[in-house]
Amino acid sequence: MRHAFTVDVEDWCDGIPISPEVRRAATPRLESSLGLLLDLLDAHSTRATFFFLGSVAESYPQLVRRIASAGHEIGCHGWSHDLLYEMSPERFREETRRAAEAISERTGEPVRAYRAAYFSVTRKSFWALEELAGLGFRYDSSIFPVHNWRYGIPDFPRSPQVVETPSGPILELPLSVREFFGRTIPVTGGAYFRIYPYRFTRGNLLALQEKSVPAVFYLHPWELDPKHPRVRFYWKAWITHYFNLGSTESRLRRLLTDFEFAPLGEVLEHELFGDRT
Ligand SMILES: [Zn+2]
Repeated sequence: MRHAFTVDVEDWCDGIPISPEVRRAATPRLESSLGLLLDLLDAHSTRATFFFLGSVAESYPQLVRRIASAGHEIGCHGWSHDLLYEMSPERFREETRRAAEAISERTGEPVRAYRAAYFSVTRKSFWALEELAGLGFRYDSSIFPVHNWRYGIPDFPRSPQVVETPSGPILELPLSVREFFGRTIPVTGGAYFRIYPYRFTRGNLLALQEKSVPAVFYLHPWELDPKHPRVRFYWKAWITHYFNLGSTESRLRRLLTDFEFAPLGEVLEHELFGDRT
């Protein structure tokens, strides 16, 4: 079965809790790690969904066009990378519209797929799905059905869903979890991919396959750049950001060999509606 391969396109300094001054002074390193990721996907004939921060799309128009023309799906990762549940619906609407416009200006296509910063669609910010539907988004993958200090809706279903909102339906593919010795654990991406041994990740994907539930794998380009600068920030975020970065590339080669992946939109449409041409 095909799982969703997703990439949150942001530089190493965009998704960490540092001051705006430190962020402004940081050296950009996005292009080389993103190039490596694109080469790895190409070598395994794999297409993915790339969720661009609006500000990144504005700074790197050629990257958006290169990725779109390689057949990947281009999605939106918001503008500020701030937590949704700390925003008003009005601010969220304005900055998401701005990001979607910056992206679609580069691709010439409307943006249909969304991933929230820090997976921050929670019960407190569930209104975001209605806002997204109202802005024309069709797919979302922002809900993590776990308990985490920063995100999670533990009782959210584990499989693809149509979520009805007053502004219309939106298709949700929740981030992947597994019940393991009585606990629900997150399984397939980012820091979890670097923390767990590869065999465990592989077993988690096989367990999902057995239940006919597509996994959502997610990665950031900076996870393929183990030499990016070390700066100080809140320890819980620091540990997961820098842990075992040197393992990402070799593990990713194995993952892309062992499993079949597709962009989020294709996985959702196929899972929810079957093959329709
Ligand atoms: Zn992010």
